Amino acid sequence: MFYLTVETDFDSAHHLPEHKGKCKNLHGHTYRVKAEVSSRELTDGMAVDFKILKDALDSICDPFDHACLNDFFQNPTAEEMARFIYDKLADTLPVKVEKVWVWESPTSCAAYCRDE
Ligand SMILES: [Zn+2]
Repeated sequence: MFYLTVETDFDSAHHLPEHKGKCKNLHGHTYRVKAEVSSRELTDGMAVDFKILKDALDSICDPFDHACLNDFFQNPTAEEMARFIYDKLADTLPVKVEKVWVWESPTSCAAYCRDE
């Protein structure tokens, strides 16, 4: 099995209306997103072209850059974002999406993979 990962980042504001702590207030993060895909087969020596992966991830994340995530999500937690990005990638890529990670900070990350 071959595994490939691509990463991207963007700056966004958000607030968590249901949260009891500081995250209830509007604030911002530099988000980092990593997506991992897999393939058993190679075509011309590649599982899939990195450009296809990166373009797919960027097209999903670009609308979030310098935007307020509450315009896209009812409750924009890293977990909800990881699931959203995973599902979008799974709909568009020709290879299996294994996992998506979303970092809200360099030390705090949520990941999502579909149970099968
Ligand atoms: Zn936050």
